[in-house]
Amino acid sequence: MLSKKIQTALAGSSAIRAMFIEGKELAAKIGEENVFDFSLGNPATPAPEALNDAVKALLDETDPLVLHGYMSNSGYEDVRAAIAKNLNKRFQTDFGAENIVMTVGAAGGLNIVFKAILDPGDEVIVFAPFFGEYKSYAANFDAFIVPVAPNYETFQPDLTAFEAAITSRTKAVIVNTPNNPTGVVYSPETMQGIGEILSKKEKEYNKEIYLISDEPYRELVYDGAKEDFLTKYYHNTIVGYSFSKSLSLPGERIGYIAVPNEVTDAKELLAGIEVANRILGFVNAPSLMQKAVAHCIEETTNLDFYDKNRKVLYEGLTKLGFTCIKPQGAFYLWLKSPVENEEEFVATAKKYNLLLVKGSAFGCSGYVRLAYCVANEKIVRSLDAFEKLAKEYKLCE
Ligand code: PLP
Repeated sequence: MLSKKIQTALAGSSAIRAMFIEGKELAAKIGEENVFDFSLGNPATPAPEALNDAVKALLDETDPLVLHGYMSNSGYEDVRAAIAKNLNKRFQTDFGAENIVMTVGAAGGLNIVFKAILDPGDEVIVFAPFFGEYKSYAANFDAFIVPVAPNYETFQPDLTAFEAAITSRTKAVIVNTPNNPTGVVYSPETMQGIGEILSKKEKEYNKEIYLISDEPYRELVYDGAKEDFLTKYYHNTIVGYSFSKSLSLPGERIGYIAVPNEVTDAKELLAGIEVANRILGFVNAPSLMQKAVAHCIEETTNLDFYDKNRKVLYEGLTKLGFTCIKPQGAFYLWLKSPVENEEEFVATAKKYNLLLVKGSAFGCSGYVRLAYCVANEKIVRSLDAFEKLAKEYKLCE
């Protein structure tokens, strides 16, 4: 009864979601406080107070027919103008409202961009490890992802492998920095290199190759690092943003796509993206949330909350003998499995009520991901369980 595509999607259903559901079941059995669930990137610090205030004021003060009504498929003009102005101030760009399309989160944004640019059989290059949903999003349009292995020392993309992976069928490349699942921030040298290779390959194949920057974690950078904005590295860059993590609003489904004027035929591309928003059935991004985020454009999440977790977890785990990539951004920690088969390691961790996600879910086996967007006291208490796990693998005495 199910379509072939959905049968395939069901069969490969998200390991992260499965672990999250398992965590809920375990919590019902042994108590929520005894489960150390590092599976899902669901922020544990609330949306800023200003967001709640904005929602309340909007409900009280705005004409409900406007607030809850249809608008342009790209979103409210004033909201898009506010976002453009904010980006221009921060990143010296020259966006206007016409360059912005409000979306149903990053996921909705990526799907409408894919709908606008992909033909069946097209290839989308992704850098492993990568957000596993990219594969499903490409499959929605009968396109394919082509994973490129990382530099395993740094988890920056391997540029030689990247260049070799580009073919005449390559239509887009996705970068996600700060990265889910590694927590690595791609260096300016990496981005420069990607931009140069793409410019060369566009000429070689005489066609557009889009760089899609998926940036739900843009502002989540630590140790005083400055957030980067990638349009400066390559002319055909499309930015996909989400407020899910930066304002702790993942359930509200709000984000945007920004297409700079220097993108080839930018106007036409924007028109395509807008129509895709409509015909994929999103129609427009949630109206109340569009208005609310526009009021909170200067707000950021509680970075200290995540930074504290990051330090406690990284220091605690390395002290116990685990090999971890030091997270520079986002709220994920990438840990090398002490045994080759990380699924075995994930299963052993579960004995101590530690829920981790296998690296193969991100196209990179031999590693596991920990989402440390959980309460700080949970991280602290989890270290006892990690100690037992480390002892089982003889990583410490
Ligand atoms: N892209 C990456 C890299 C993500 O980590 C996520 C969510 O975790 C998404 C996209 C989807 O974000 P949204 O909830 O805004 O659709």
